[in-house]
Amino acid sequence: MKILAIGRNYAEHIAELKNEVPDEPVIFFKPDTAILRNNEPFYFPDYSQDIHHEVELILRISKEGKNIGAKFASKYYDAIGLGIDFTARDLQAKAKSKGLPWTLAKGFNGSAPISEFLPLTDFPDLKNINFKLLVNGEEKQKGNSSMMLNSFDDMLAYMSRFITLKTGDIIFTGTPAGVGPVKIGDRLEGFIEDKKLLDFEVK
Ligand code: MG
Repeated sequence: MKILAIGRNYAEHIAELKNEVPDEPVIFFKPDTAILRNNEPFYFPDYSQDIHHEVELILRISKEGKNIGAKFASKYYDAIGLGIDFTARDLQAKAKSKGLPWTLAKGFNGSAPISEFLPLTDFPDLKNINFKLLVNGEEKQKGNSSMMLNSFDDMLAYMSRFITLKTGDIIFTGTPAGVGPVKIGDRLEGFIEDKKLLDFEVK
C-alpha cells in the first residue's frame, strides 16, 4: 500500500508557514514504513532537530480507481481516521530552498502515526468534521473539514489522474494551523469530534 498526502490544504496553515496558496494541489508520498499503529511511541530521530506535528484527517481507499471523477470519488473510500504527518521541518526547509523533493523530510521512519478507522456511516456530514490535537494536555491544533481548500472528493479526483489509487491506500488530507515542534517526553492526543483516536508518546 501507499500513502498519498496533500500539502497546503488549509489557508491558515499556509499563512503560518508563509507559503503561497498553490495554483494546483501539492501532493507527496510517504512510504508504508512510515506508519505507526496502535499508539506505538514515536522515536525522535538523530537527523533532525525540528520535527513538527501536523494532525490530519485520513481516508482509507476501498476500491481501485484512476481518473476518478470528483462526483464519484466518495465511492472510493469507506472510512476516516486521524493521522500525524510528522515533518522534519529543518530538512524540509533545506529541500525547499534548493527546490529539491521532500522525500526524507516527510517519509522518514515513524513519520505517519495513524489511528483506527471509523466507517463513513459515522459521519453525517463529511464537510463538517471537527478534529484536534493536544500536546501534553494543551490544545495545539484544531480544524474542521469545511476549511479544506480541496475537498476529499476533489483531492482524490486530482491524485487519481496521475496515480492509481488501490484498496488499502491511505490519504492524508492536510493540516490546519497550529503546527509546531515536538520533543522527547511529549504526549500527543488526537480527537475526531469528542472521540480520542490517538494517544502516544515521543521517546
Ligand atoms: Mg501535512
